[in-house]
Amino acid sequence: MRAPRRQRTLERAVEMSGIGFFTNADVTISFHPQAEGMGISFQRTDLKSTGPVQARIENVIRKERRTAISQGGVTVELIEHVMAALAGLQIDNCLVRLNAPEPPGCDGSSLDFVQCLLDGGIVEQNAYRDLIVVTQPQAIVTENDSVALSASPISRHGLVITYELDYGPRSPIKPQSFSLEVTPETFITLVAFARTFVAEEEVKYLQSQGYGQRVTEKDLLIFGPDGPIGNALRTRDECVRHKILDCIGDFALIGCDLHGHFRAFRTGHHHNHQIIERIKQTHEIIRAPEYVCFQPHFPLKDLPQEMALQS
Ligand SMILES: [Zn+2]
Repeated sequence: MRAPRRQRTLERAVEMSGIGFFTNADVTISFHPQAEGMGISFQRTDLKSTGPVQARIENVIRKERRTAISQGGVTVELIEHVMAALAGLQIDNCLVRLNAPEPPGCDGSSLDFVQCLLDGGIVEQNAYRDLIVVTQPQAIVTENDSVALSASPISRHGLVITYELDYGPRSPIKPQSFSLEVTPETFITLVAFARTFVAEEEVKYLQSQGYGQRVTEKDLLIFGPDGPIGNALRTRDECVRHKILDCIGDFALIGCDLHGHFRAFRTGHHHNHQIIERIKQTHEIIRAPEYVCFQPHFPLKDLPQEMALQS
């Protein structure tokens, strides 16, 4: 079986700047090394004497179309693309400091965060990373099956996410699916660049409410009836790749490594949070070095054909 891996953090602090998509704020965000076992936390430097907000599922608060956390009266929103970059690179311990309620939106993907974090260097720490292995299948299904998310045991160790996106025949976003075994290499090359997408009407509505005033069609994918407005897709299936990026960021809120096969159909952040919460409630955390001798007790079988990586 796969050997347990050691926790990782940054070698040195790094910083970058940009514009907050929702709040229109000029944001400077910095990433700092943290001791083993500390996990990921966000600290608002624009608020006086506030402690860090732990990026854990217990601290998630419900917001539409984004992931937000709150602790001790301090809230940080739209953390998912930063979380995806950290989780995708297997950076387990990091203090994220920012001078606004949200990180910079960048190009709507995790690419700039990945670049910044790689510039900081990644170092292994002494302690091993804890793990949850999905042994009991879980499912979140909404009425009339319009949205579904399941987690099931996997025949080998690792995290596999399969996403199917189908918004119907009238949507300018064509049906697409993608499957990924998440490793730093697959994350960097196959999903980190995938940008968030939004419908033209939704942008108009948000801007009428004062949000996203500085966002243009060059900053992220805004879909009109004929496809992205004033922008080109980086891959034909960029949208579904972005949904997997969001899953990676949201699943990291469990606070340890997670092994299992997740299958998603048209889901969003709220469903991701629900399944992670349920897995955390129903599964034990395997603390290294215990899991050096852990053997999965579900039937071993090969991955189905659909799981082959797509490029
Ligand atoms: Zn996203």
